[in-house]
Amino acid sequence: MSTDTSPLLLDGRALAAEVRSEFAAEVQSMIEGGRRPRLVVLQVGRNEAAQAYIRGQKRGAESWDLEFHLETLPADASDATVRKALRAFNADKRVSGILLSLPLPAGLGTRTLQREIHPSKDVEGVHPENLGGLLWARYGLLPCTALAALALVDQSGIDLQGKEAVVVGHSEIVGKPASLLLLARNATVTVCHKFTADLAAHTRRADVLIVAVGKAGLITADMVKQGAVVIDVGINAVPSDEGPGRMRLVGDVAYDEVAPKCAAITPVPGGVGPVTVAMLMRNTVLAARGMPPLDDPGQLPLFA
Ligand code: NAD
Repeated sequence: MSTDTSPLLLDGRALAAEVRSEFAAEVQSMIEGGRRPRLVVLQVGRNEAAQAYIRGQKRGAESWDLEFHLETLPADASDATVRKALRAFNADKRVSGILLSLPLPAGLGTRTLQREIHPSKDVEGVHPENLGGLLWARYGLLPCTALAALALVDQSGIDLQGKEAVVVGHSEIVGKPASLLLLARNATVTVCHKFTADLAAHTRRADVLIVAVGKAGLITADMVKQGAVVIDVGINAVPSDEGPGRMRLVGDVAYDEVAPKCAAITPVPGGVGPVTVAMLMRNTVLAARGMPPLDDPGQLPLFA
């Protein structure tokens, strides 16, 4: 690990390509056996903000040689209609993984519908059974962004056991699962959120800092310990210098001032984002393979 003023850049695109190549031979043999893994994305109506994610999922599936199918139900579809569609995908043997695109139109029950996805096809790791597997530190389909954050921490070379890990953000999709993955590696974990009284007092202790908030510039240099590993999950569009109305993407970490203090840091874009997509594809291949029972003893594998 680098400890001087030039940090190790944790390249998400390179890691995503590595994850893909770990699975390439298996995908190829599934295809040759007539069982190409198939990812189904179900959207209800057409939420504009979700379209960029869906395009990324489609591109990811194509680059992994997986089949991708986008199913769109009308925006006024009832709970019963969405449930019926999910049940049909659960029953369809050709479908390996199902992703319910969020947000759903107002009036639909997100949790109730996520529960309808069979746990063995729940490639986003949002079903309570898979979230329970995370608590048990057992093999399962785990939330993609949290997996991506941990895989990037691993790229830094740090041994998490006994280290201070601080997670900023406690959402169900990122902060909470990331903190459980860090605990599974025996880090001492602190989870901060919008009600945390003195955020900097916590972040300054972090050997590993994972930030998933959605506020550009939240983490400044004075909040980071020298030599920390920093994983920036945030995605924020801010005005670009390239002209009026032009936007660019940044994370939650004030990169230019924080990076010189870090042993390793992720860029935005090109950090957590591409690895999240790779983890979704990995989960789709694992689902196509068939998941072992949760009682299987053993470590929590990232790439197995
Ligand atoms: P969320 O809105 O569900 O949760 C935000 C969290 O930040 C909450 O826990 C909240 O308590 C906390 N928070 C808000 N203000 C805070 C403050 N001032 N100090 C400390 N904590 C504060 O968001 P989310 O879905 O977890 O996403 C977080 C960010 O990560 C967003 O920018 C999102 O776009 C991004 N994201 C990126 C990926 C990826 O693949 N790169 C995936 C998912 C989310």
